[in-house]
Amino acid sequence: VTKSIKCTKCKRVIKEEPVRFNNKNYHAECREEIENRNSLIEYICELYGTDRPSGMILKQIKDFQEEYDYKLKGMELALRYFYETLDNKVRENDGIGIILYVYEEAKRHYIKQMKIAEAIENMESNEEEITVHINKNITKRKSKKIDITAI
Ligand SMILES: [Zn+2]
Repeated sequence: VTKSIKCTKCKRVIKEEPVRFNNKNYHAECREEIENRNSLIEYICELYGTDRPSGMILKQIKDFQEEYDYKLKGMELALRYFYETLDNKVRENDGIGIILYVYEEAKRHYIKQMKIAEAIENMESNEEEITVHINKNITKRKSKKIDITAI
């Protein structure tokens, strides 16, 4: 009988392949949640120039997750959108309430960016195809010329 492995974060049994981190086992999504949370908190500290977020901010994160079903990654993107893309200044003692106002807008912005990136990628792969076609034509023409001179 194999011993059931429990997730360090949610304490529930892991049925699929566990994700190992610091010699501990996690569900893949639990580990991702921890990483996203660390990344969000790191970014908030960077914004406000602190070592750790205030209790108010931690409570806001919790509320946004529970009441608005916001994703941790989405919250970070919303803050990045507000402060980096829209270039707003960070004011001391501000919480992260702005997330409520820009979350959906930020999401639309990033989806648009992703589509643009995808379109550029498609354009590049089309260009490669075109080059291949041109090269084929050149080879054909060359072989034709050789045929003519052979006659
Ligand atoms: Zn878990």
